[in-house]
Amino acid sequence: MTDTIAPIIEQLFLDLHKNPELSNQEFETTKKLRNCLEQANILILELGAKTGVIAEIGSGSPVVALRADIDALPIDEQSDCQYRSTKQGVMHACGHDLHTSVLMGAAYLLKANEQQLKGTVRLLFQPAEENFSGALHFIEIGALNGVDAIFGMHNNPNLTINQMASRAGPFSANVDRIEITVKGIGAHAARPESGIDPIVISAQIVNAIQTISSRTISGLDPVVVSITKFLGGNTWNVIPETVEMEGTVRTLTPDIRLKVKQQLTSIVENIAFSMGAEAELRWFDGPPSIINVAKWVDFCQNIAKQEGYEVVDFQPQLGGEDFAHYLHHVPGAFINLGSQSPYALHHPKFLVNRNMIMPAANYLANLAQLGLIELAKH
Ligand SMILES: [Zn+2]
Ligand SMILES: [Zn+2]
Repeated sequence: MTDTIAPIIEQLFLDLHKNPELSNQEFETTKKLRNCLEQANILILELGAKTGVIAEIGSGSPVVALRADIDALPIDEQSDCQYRSTKQGVMHACGHDLHTSVLMGAAYLLKANEQQLKGTVRLLFQPAEENFSGALHFIEIGALNGVDAIFGMHNNPNLTINQMASRAGPFSANVDRIEITVKGIGAHAARPESGIDPIVISAQIVNAIQTISSRTISGLDPVVVSITKFLGGNTWNVIPETVEMEGTVRTLTPDIRLKVKQQLTSIVENIAFSMGAEAELRWFDGPPSIINVAKWVDFCQNIAKQEGYEVVDFQPQLGGEDFAHYLHHVPGAFINLGSQSPYALHHPKFLVNRNMIMPAANYLANLAQLGLIELAKH
């Protein structure tokens, strides 16, 4: 079976890689995926997704969902592979073309085995992961209705193609964005006493918020607060009225996330107040941390071993992944499989080893098929 499916999936991967599309603009990608599903007589659920596709194999409950993301990045590809991006400034530099192909491979394998399925496998080809809007959109249109467990996979360029990694508990970070406005009183640069200098105050704020991770949170809980934009003034001899800052906060657990938010607000407002200025912190929730369910991580690791993968330790990292939203509604696990790229994710020369595709497709199909059996036990 794998022999007849492999060339179709290989073609799909090359096609997707050559024709990447940005978040929420995956129109051609969606058409191709619908085509592939129709070719294999796989039922497409018309839930009203703008881009992306949701499909099903098998029938009845329980329901296991498998999710792949399909969008690309605004990066100009610099690899010299023969199937490099034909679109200037757009590239599959995170390997979502790989994830999509692996899921389609799994779908074909599951379809060939549909009579044996003890329930339903739902396939989520999700758009817009890179801007963290796709999972929320899919949940909104009902992609998770009736789902009992969900699995997702991201490639990991640092692992070889026969390695799998996951961990129970936090797997990715809470990714929050902050904006800070400090409002003082403008003045002549030679007479600072007649104004309130927002630049000096903001500088104190930037320094003080670094004490959140070093002085108020345990050293065992990772916290990153980065100010990445600092704008104020437009000439050399005028103290400006305001300073605008932007940045990001990365944490792993909901408790620490809340604590950092409170601490940050307090530092910003109180430093400004103590110096006669006003300050406002605006906090924008990004995707929460992926919290993997231990039981399902064990399950994924056991099947990986049976399939011949080497299961390696995974250190949590402070990047974001919108798969986290699904795990707030249904249990499941997010895992890494090796793609053995010499370059990192989001690098213009990122290049996966595509020999990982069919073994990964087999593995995902098994996760779904055996996941249904596991769910039926309880
Ligand atoms: Zn990415
Ligand atoms: Zn990604």
